[in-house]
Amino acid sequence: MHHPKFVLFFDNHTMKACPDVGHNYHADEFAQNLKEVGADLVGFHAKCNQGFCYYDTQIGVRHPSLPAGFDLFGETVRACKERGIAVSAYLNCGLSNEDAVRHPEWCMISPDGTILHPDVYNIGWVTPYMRTMCLNSPYREYLLSMIREVRDKYPVAGFLLDSFNGFPCICPHCVEGMRKRGMDCRKKEDVLEFGRLSALRLATDISDLLRPKENGLLVYFLGISARDNARIGSYLECECLPTNPCWGYDYLPLMSRYYRNLTDGPVLNMTGRFYDWGDFGSLRPQAAVEYDLFFGLANGMRPNIGDHFHPRGDISRGVVERVGKIYEKLRKYDEWFEGAKNRVDIGVVLPGAIGKNPSLVGLTRMLSELKMQFDFIDEDCDWSPYSLLILPDRVTLNGKLAALVKKHLDAGRTLLATGRSGLNPEGSAFLFEPEWGVKYRGECDYSPAYFRLTGDFAARVPDMPLAVYTAGLRTEALPGSTVAGKVVAPYYNKHWDGIYSYFYAPPDKETELPFLVLNDRTAYCAFPLFEGYYNLASVDLRNVLALMLEHLLPSPLLKTDSSLPSFARAFVTEAGNRRMVHLLNYLPELRGKALIVEEELPLVNVKLGLRLDGATVDKVYLAPEKREIPFTVSGDILSFTVPEMRGYCMVVTEVKK
Ligand SMILES: [Zn+2]
Repeated sequence: MHHPKFVLFFDNHTMKACPDVGHNYHADEFAQNLKEVGADLVGFHAKCNQGFCYYDTQIGVRHPSLPAGFDLFGETVRACKERGIAVSAYLNCGLSNEDAVRHPEWCMISPDGTILHPDVYNIGWVTPYMRTMCLNSPYREYLLSMIREVRDKYPVAGFLLDSFNGFPCICPHCVEGMRKRGMDCRKKEDVLEFGRLSALRLATDISDLLRPKENGLLVYFLGISARDNARIGSYLECECLPTNPCWGYDYLPLMSRYYRNLTDGPVLNMTGRFYDWGDFGSLRPQAAVEYDLFFGLANGMRPNIGDHFHPRGDISRGVVERVGKIYEKLRKYDEWFEGAKNRVDIGVVLPGAIGKNPSLVGLTRMLSELKMQFDFIDEDCDWSPYSLLILPDRVTLNGKLAALVKKHLDAGRTLLATGRSGLNPEGSAFLFEPEWGVKYRGECDYSPAYFRLTGDFAARVPDMPLAVYTAGLRTEALPGSTVAGKVVAPYYNKHWDGIYSYFYAPPDKETELPFLVLNDRTAYCAFPLFEGYYNLASVDLRNVLALMLEHLLPSPLLKTDSSLPSFARAFVTEAGNRRMVHLLNYLPELRGKALIVEEELPLVNVKLGLRLDGATVDKVYLAPEKREIPFTVSGDILSFTVPEMRGYCMVVTEVKK
């Protein structure tokens, strides 16, 4: 299998009306440019979401303006192969507008009986999702035969297969399929689940056709879960344009910490040179794209820059030059990225499927700002590497999760939980009440609720009742637990009583309800701390989390101080006798409607402490120039200062094992 290092992807969905597809295309010149920027793998369209093929097909619909006999895709594969560049074939599977126009009976039917028109981008009729293909209609066999045709005809390195969205369809094919499974087409949840299963079934059939692992093909299905892709595909790809609000700057930090442990195959990090798909006329600043790609590399993901192919074949020198500069810079660090794995202390247990929900976004931001090293894990992961587990806000404990949590605690390890986490599936009691140190008494209906820390802990936050910005639980501390904070009630809840509107609801009296409870190996906050931080990013909520972490993880892998700002990100990776600390100092700024990164930000005298876990340090240097910097070792902690940096910085520690 090809192991991609520097990847480019060319989006090319071309309208029927485009009069000159491929008329100015010179595959050798195109491939020469790819060679110039140092790409070793290129994603290129064999079939687009408009339903047009760019390869020499006997089955699909060729784009009508492609010159007769001209094989745009095949020429690209040839010219790239001659220069040692692998090509992955892109085919859109869920969307194929020209086929939908020709075969309306292949379209998805929405539960209201009309042709399904999911408003994915909230942009009305001007959308690639104008029509969607039913994956149980005869379109299914037609699509499979096209994929077989591309597989047999071209020496491609893999397939990127798009738009397995699993939308709800109640066409006769789907209704029949639902009946066979005992599902009810009048129930929304059954229709949605059948849609998901239909997409997965087609992806599985494609996987059986391509047999990616046996045939050494890179295969990924966009729209299928990462877990399913790890099983039926051969690599993972995180598509994320941070400038598109559907993804934003919170998506990659979440997914990278989950994807990197799911597969032995490559993990790609796809960003874009533009602000959005279909945005032909923009070129993001070099620092913006580098931020995305260094972030991915520091998490074991190889870079992939999305571009648009101009349908006529025109080449934008501006793009070639910028991408070339970016890849030239990244390549200088590659010997330290190659084969490196992230080192972490913390496993964060997912409350269900991973996604950009308030708790997980809040948690990722808080832990990242505190420079903690963590993975997201589910019940199918190996939990043994984590000294600390976090159960954020809503992780109730069913049979399998309960057994894993018990095993972790029985091994003498530590656990941090917030909000409803730890309740049994009925939500009536904490499953491990003695370990949590509290008894569940019901919902806390204070709105707004406040808290105060108690005793020595009080000095960690301002001396005043502080708001939590969410609804929590009423609990009762068990004897022997340390109550480190208490809930403060408001005078009255925010509400309207029919005459008066209670908008101003100041804190009244401290209650006996615990806010924060500490035990030897556990820490529990009765409010969903992470969701609260998502709602209003109160730094004092993060101070509460820091206090809990210090109690459970007194010596984290990486420690720093205010010399590294909250918005900077830090990762630790390891390969052989090298341990790398990656620092990223960039700040996306909201300019009007768009989140923009324009410059790398400078820092001086950044102080860091790295836990050695018994290793002996040989030397510490800055990559890529290998400039050594002074260090000290005290106990198990290596301390050093980065004299200056701008944007991305890699510090390498070489140890004797
Ligand atoms: Zn259908």
